[in-house]
Amino acid sequence: MCDVVVVGAGIVGASVAWNLTLAGARVRVLEAAPAPATAASAASFSRATAFGKPPRAYFDLNHAGLRELHRIGAQGAPGFHPCPTLLWARDPDRLDADLARARQWGYAAEEVAPDAPAVPRGVDRAALSPRVVRLPDEGWVDLPAMAGWMVDRARREGAEVRFGARVERILTDAAGAVCGVALAGGGRVDARTVVNAAGAGAEEVAGLVGGPLALAPTPGLLADLPLPGGVDAMLLGPDVSVRPAGPDGVRVRSDGVDARLAGPSGEPLDSPVRDLIERAGRVLPGLRGTRPTAVRVGIRAFPADGGSSVGFLDAVPGYYEAVTHSGATLGALLGRLVADEISSGGRPDLLTPFSPDRFHSMATP
Ligand SMILES: Cc1cc2nc3c(=O)[nH]c(=O)nc-3n(C[C@H](O)[C@H](O)[C@H](O)COP(=O)(O)OP(=O)(O)OC[C@H]3O[C@@H](n4cnc5c(N)ncnc54)[C@H](O)[C@@H]3O)c2cc1C
Repeated sequence: MCDVVVVGAGIVGASVAWNLTLAGARVRVLEAAPAPATAASAASFSRATAFGKPPRAYFDLNHAGLRELHRIGAQGAPGFHPCPTLLWARDPDRLDADLARARQWGYAAEEVAPDAPAVPRGVDRAALSPRVVRLPDEGWVDLPAMAGWMVDRARREGAEVRFGARVERILTDAAGAVCGVALAGGGRVDARTVVNAAGAGAEEVAGLVGGPLALAPTPGLLADLPLPGGVDAMLLGPDVSVRPAGPDGVRVRSDGVDARLAGPSGEPLDSPVRDLIERAGRVLPGLRGTRPTAVRVGIRAFPADGGSSVGFLDAVPGYYEAVTHSGATLGALLGRLVADEISSGGRPDLLTPFSPDRFHSMATP
């Protein structure tokens, strides 16, 4: 019997598995896909930030997540790219509120003029509204690189990692406690704890133990565009967001374009992609008329109340949930906190408000 089965090898499952092996646990990772980080973790804007993320408990968790990325990056983990954000908004009141909260809660944020040297070369400064906020301590995460590295490290520390292994049942004993999982196509793995890190598949996995997790999955379109020389800041406007993606490219997305994806699935992407490139070209004219090097649609595993769902479920001993829609910011930190809680039994303070048990009351009218 192993101690812990981790379901899913996206950034969250990879980080949980790595940290559990460091804590000395016998870990088995079961991933339905043929490789790590092929779902949301491969189709993410992946900006690490706590800005504009109230309430205070959620901000604190994300702020700690950002610090954790700096910490593991300094220790040699690959994938985190520190990079300031420049942000401007259509709604000055909201910007004021976010800025005031950030300052009050100790988050580095400063106002800069659109013609300040901090605005990267190549940006059409006229496209920035007069009020621009600079967030100097943020960054973006190459999630496949980081998750792949964590899976390798977990393996070196003794974890067994199986790809093409879809969990279709969670097994419980006569007392109702978790005792293992059954795989599609046959086979079972015995374990005392099962961690649900299945991303957009987490609601289905939670359903295997009658867990009340409710997700509101939302699609997001991402296009990678060529830009010789790249850009050295993340640019977040009301119409489009742009972040570096390698030395000669950027990744772009837009809430406005994503709203158009909510229609029937299978809708051709040509027109939303054109819209995205047009919006990006208004901020970085060098992007006008470019052809994407990659286009992806990712599904965010959005817990229905907008928080994360992290912790043991009271009713099913041994079942643990690790689900978030801010996995780029939180993945590295959650891995450490979850491993801490599972191996020591003590609940980290930062996780207290995010228990999966809260979905029981959401489900009760
Ligand atoms: C468009 C978009 C933009 C985003 N932007 C940001 C951002 O700017 N900042 C930020 O912090 N976050 C962002 N996110 C969110 C972030 O990318 C995700 O929270 C993170 O990647 C989730 O990681 P995960 O490991 O939980 O899930 P995933 O990466 O989806 O991994 C889950 C894994 O579980 C496996 N699985 C599912 N069911 C089973 C099963 N039954 N058995 C075995 N395996 C199973 C899947 O195959 C998958 O590999 C964004 C997401 C999207 C889609």
